Amino acid sequence: MQSVEAAVASLPKIHLHCHLEGSLRAETFVELTKRAGISTRYRPGQADVPGPDDPAEVYSFADFGEFLLTFAAVSRSLAGPDDYARLAREFVADALAQRVIYGELFISPSVWAFFHPELDVPATIRLIVQELRAARAHGAEFALIADVTRNFGPESAMRTARMAAELAGDGVIGIGLGGDESRFPPELFGEVYAYARAAGLRAVAHAGEAAGAQSVRDAIEHLGAERIGHGIRALEDPAVLDLLRERAIPLEVCPTSNHLTGVAAKDAPHPFAALDAAGVIVTIDADDPALFRTSITREYELVARDVGLATLQRFIRQAVDASFLDAAAKRALRERIGAELARPSAY
Ligand SMILES: [Zn+2]
Repeated sequence: MQSVEAAVASLPKIHLHCHLEGSLRAETFVELTKRAGISTRYRPGQADVPGPDDPAEVYSFADFGEFLLTFAAVSRSLAGPDDYARLAREFVADALAQRVIYGELFISPSVWAFFHPELDVPATIRLIVQELRAARAHGAEFALIADVTRNFGPESAMRTARMAAELAGDGVIGIGLGGDESRFPPELFGEVYAYARAAGLRAVAHAGEAAGAQSVRDAIEHLGAERIGHGIRALEDPAVLDLLRERAIPLEVCPTSNHLTGVAAKDAPHPFAALDAAGVIVTIDADDPALFRTSITREYELVARDVGLATLQRFIRQAVDASFLDAAAKRALRERIGAELARPSAY
């Protein structure tokens, strides 16, 4: 009998909710901080907060707030275009090793610029795209979604959206909204999203993670979000579940991330099965795989153990349908993975 690990290892995988910076290998993070003479910890307004330098310890945090600060520390360590190229190169190597065949990856350029105002952001994004395109020779394709980052406010978000629109033909396909959900609700960014959608960018938003079900409704109604990052707290309001079902808006569900940030109870099964049972379109990803010390493979394993391989395979097909590929590309991807997913498994 084939083990879950062996069955999942052979599956094609799709990233719809993966932050490129959050994929930075712990060893590389330590190396970059040592080179710059900075700590692996970042606390706003505090000059020098000592942090661990053992790769096994650098990615640890107690709650969602500390997680966001770890993400900030990682972004601070990425100083120049070469660092981002390396990040993308290592991401591709790790993705190919796991049989990832398609991905729409988040980047957070306003966080980069916050720590490194001198950074040529558009040139850096082009360099990342170039590295990601190296995966084509191995049958994998990646696109970027620029996160406008709530915490910097609507004006900064608009600047990021304009830059994303300029790079729309060059590997950037959409905008996203990450950061602190509770202090920066979706309605602040309505104008930014209207601009981006008019410019031909696709629209996604984190919601229903740190904030409740209403934030999911607001992301859909105020921003026109076509997919919701996390969204698991939609379960708190049947009317929001109805909205997700009626509009066929998929959720990008990241189980380990939710357990580690405390959004989902650590000692209970993750609610993705409840969302699926409620008729909501579920897709599975790893969020910030390195920071959460997981991987898309491990998230798939977790799901397969919980609800079985057949349901996981359905989630993978749903991810193809939920992607922003055009109809012909989706068809091609479906055909390509169809045979592999249809293969009977002993598990
Ligand atoms: Zn995320």
